[in-house]
Amino acid sequence: MTITALSAIPTDARELSIWPASMTPLPHGGLAVGGVPLTEIADRFDTPAYVLDEGEVRGRCRTYREAFPDAAVLYAAKAFLSRAMVRWVREEGLGLDVCSAGELELAVTSGFPPERIVLHGNAKSPRDLEAALRLGVGRIVIDSPSEIARIAAAVGPDGRQKVMVRVVPGVSAGGHDKIRTGTDDQKFGLSLTDGGAQHAVTRILGQPQLELTGLHCHIGSQITDVKPYLVALRRMVGLMARIRDAHGVVLPELDMGGGHGIAYRPGEPALDLTALARRLRAELIEGCAAARLTVPRLLIEPGRAVVGPAGVALYRVLAVKHTGEKVFVAVDGGMSDNPRPALYGVRYAPRLIGRTSAAETRTTTVVGRHCEAGDVLAADVHLPGDIRPGDLLAVPVSGAYQLSMASGYNLVGRPAVVAVHEGTARLLVRRETLQDYRSRDIGV
Ligand SMILES: *Cc1c(COP(=O)(O)O)cnc(C)c1O
Repeated sequence: MTITALSAIPTDARELSIWPASMTPLPHGGLAVGGVPLTEIADRFDTPAYVLDEGEVRGRCRTYREAFPDAAVLYAAKAFLSRAMVRWVREEGLGLDVCSAGELELAVTSGFPPERIVLHGNAKSPRDLEAALRLGVGRIVIDSPSEIARIAAAVGPDGRQKVMVRVVPGVSAGGHDKIRTGTDDQKFGLSLTDGGAQHAVTRILGQPQLELTGLHCHIGSQITDVKPYLVALRRMVGLMARIRDAHGVVLPELDMGGGHGIAYRPGEPALDLTALARRLRAELIEGCAAARLTVPRLLIEPGRAVVGPAGVALYRVLAVKHTGEKVFVAVDGGMSDNPRPALYGVRYAPRLIGRTSAAETRTTTVVGRHCEAGDVLAADVHLPGDIRPGDLLAVPVSGAYQLSMASGYNLVGRPAVVAVHEGTARLLVRRETLQDYRSRDIGV
């Protein structure tokens, strides 16, 4: 179908900035993403639905490759993974960061080259390691001392596996306590300050089955400032120099992880990728020159910043309730498709779509349909005062850590995922049905 854009609609630049670049206002309060009206998607695929703009995902992959031309860019699969996502990332020339046999098998069986995959995890199961070795994963990131002998034994006397060491550089950064991973008081990695990382390196270098390619760190998530990355990089280069001094080994790779922050609401800051790329590179070259180290190849692992802004969640309003001072708008999804507000207190900016409203806006709390008072999708947001059952709400920046953390709570069923691209919509992942639950529930 053809879409007539209404340039007269006052959608200011601040508001536009959190939507996919393809977002177009339509007559009668409509919005199109990827050339497809969101109301059409709701009618055709039902709600709740997650819309993924293929062009936006691909565009973000390209932005990364252009900003970091000398680095390997690995998409962090845990933000969102499906077979289509695997294909887009592969075609755009990125690598992949996975943290389970499930993510790894899905990627490889969807045609992703295993040598471009890195396996993470603070507690890798025997099945994770078996899959990694069987499929020929590119690198395994060692996260605890016990993994060293385990991996070496699993590789066998004739094999050799590339590994990295996850180092805790002692840098605190990130949008919330639960997503800060750069200091010694959390479960990931081996400490720089207590010598745990150095000890692990020594042991790995003594294992002929393991080839240590470099060091890894991931300081946190939803970081909007470049500085903590520079501090972490300096410490990592320092450790590389000490490894060279102690063992005569110059490690060829340095993985600085992901965590690049994005704006969820108009006006919020996002990490400046160009500045990050320029300053990381400068710091790396300078630090290596000072330590007389060969400059290692940089790896980065963005998840959220690749897929988050490419996703839009669509909900239908089921009930509107006024209690005292509060207005609650309840929709047909909630914490089972997006646990982030309940987990981290994240704020979103939902918007009414599919009709215009002349009513004044009022402070509204958008809640889900689940049996928990904490099932709030967006507290205290400004929505038109006449929102009613049957209305459609669209929530931008819904592509990362929503569906990948979705649950079966209340047997509501996980939503459908629909890709939009150049004016067409196609189903990527179908809605979960009662039949799906029944087929797993096999005992009485
Ligand atoms: C989660 C994670 C990432 C990606 O984090 P984002 O905030 O989505 O960019 C990258 N690397 C590792 C090791 C991670 O655990």
